[in-house]
Amino acid sequence: MLQRPASHMVVQKFGGTSVADPEAIRRLIEIVRAARTRDGRGPAVVVSAMSGITDALLAMASSAGASQLDEAEARTNQIRERHVAAARELVAAGPALDHLLSEIHEQADELASIIKALAVLREVSPRTLDVVAASGELLSSRLVAAALTSAGVEAQWVDARQAVVTNDEHTRATPLKQETRDKLRANVQPAIDQGRVPVIGGFVGATTAGHTSTLGRGGSDYSGALVGAGLDAAEIQIWTDVDGMLSADPRIIKHPKLVSQLSFEEAAELAYFGAKVLHPSTILPAIERNIPVRILNSWKPTAAGTLITGSVSSARRGLTGLASKRDVTVIDITSTRMLMAYGFLRRVFEVFERYRTAVDMVTTSEVSVSVTVDDIRHLNEIVEALNEFAEVSVERGMSLLCAVGDVLQDEPKIAARVVGVLEEVPLRMISQAASRRNITVVLRQADLPHAMERLHEEFFG
Ligand code: ADP
Ligand code: ASP
Ligand code: MG
Repeated sequence: MLQRPASHMVVQKFGGTSVADPEAIRRLIEIVRAARTRDGRGPAVVVSAMSGITDALLAMASSAGASQLDEAEARTNQIRERHVAAARELVAAGPALDHLLSEIHEQADELASIIKALAVLREVSPRTLDVVAASGELLSSRLVAAALTSAGVEAQWVDARQAVVTNDEHTRATPLKQETRDKLRANVQPAIDQGRVPVIGGFVGATTAGHTSTLGRGGSDYSGALVGAGLDAAEIQIWTDVDGMLSADPRIIKHPKLVSQLSFEEAAELAYFGAKVLHPSTILPAIERNIPVRILNSWKPTAAGTLITGSVSSARRGLTGLASKRDVTVIDITSTRMLMAYGFLRRVFEVFERYRTAVDMVTTSEVSVSVTVDDIRHLNEIVEALNEFAEVSVERGMSLLCAVGDVLQDEPKIAARVVGVLEEVPLRMISQAASRRNITVVLRQADLPHAMERLHEEFFG
């Protein structure tokens, strides 16, 4: 067992809806206040951009890149105004408010000048896009830090670029573990030791060369877990707008059930296969240091939420949850000559590696390999490269539906039931991974809601 610091400091990550407006930030303040240890330590707070801001920033960058400067400038002003208005509501008039307002204006001015430059250049590089996208979290974290201090919870803003170090894969950068840990120890730990609440923007980091980077959409959860792991927190809390991990996506199934407890592995599979409530990389840092993760509803701070830990009591015998991914592309790769020859699969996967495209699911038959991918930015190049040694066909608009549960490992009948329930739905691919923790099917997008409902009714109804 890893040794824990005596103070049981926790890390609290608040998503976009949990910092959406002054009312949400007031709820956050009370949640943070309640999480102070008796000796006045922590929590460390990680915040997303206010809801809708990241979308607005990305839209703004693309209108500027297309030389629609007026539209981009109007959006910049809306973003500035939304933060200024929230600042005025949350921080009393005086030097603290003046300081916060000048920081907001400085950040918004910087954004405005980048936007102008983009309109001239008519091109948005991933590196510049990261500078634009990061400003949402840089603004919200300054606002939340000042609001906490103003409400009597002394906080300290920490520049996320001084806390999370990443590689230079802009727009979906990977954090560098040891470098990040060192930065957290140097730039965040002292605030905690001095009794202040550090407030860090999620999603954002910087490369070793100091360029602003981001961790990919939804990446604030990942930041929360990195901070938790780096500071050896007792718990990583993900505060959001639902009661916890639910048995299915509430946007597809009307009344999903709360999953009160699940294992790290189950949570990782659900997140990877589309449960948006957790960014797929979140669980890894928690596993590495065996830190429990709790998903909580910021509208109902006293509700129990979902607890994710290394081991879960075997009392629960059913499936844990369902997840789905839309807009999946199936690629069939056929070679009558080559498949049975060794080296074929290596050549296939080398192509995906070359274009840094993750494959979610793989099935093989005697003459073909079928794979699914989510990221189609390099689809044309991939198809061309595969065409050099195989016939390739591509089918867009498919969905992936995944049933997850540790129970699948020792009750094979459940996997059979999953497929049985879907008997009238045409299934394009079926796979049960070696972990035997999930069973995944690929089907037409149009069939997804019905298939999801059938499965949910059977296992959670
Ligand atoms: P935040 O801004 O707090 O990070 P997100 O929008 O990223 O919140 O994630 C929360 C949303 O995830 C919920 O509002 C819900 O619609 C969606 N969601 C999808 N699948 C699930 C699931 N299995 N359990 C809970 N929420 C889910
Ligand atoms: N603000 C970023 C996004 O909307 C990161 C996050 O909220 O997790 O993707
Ligand atoms: Mg999220």
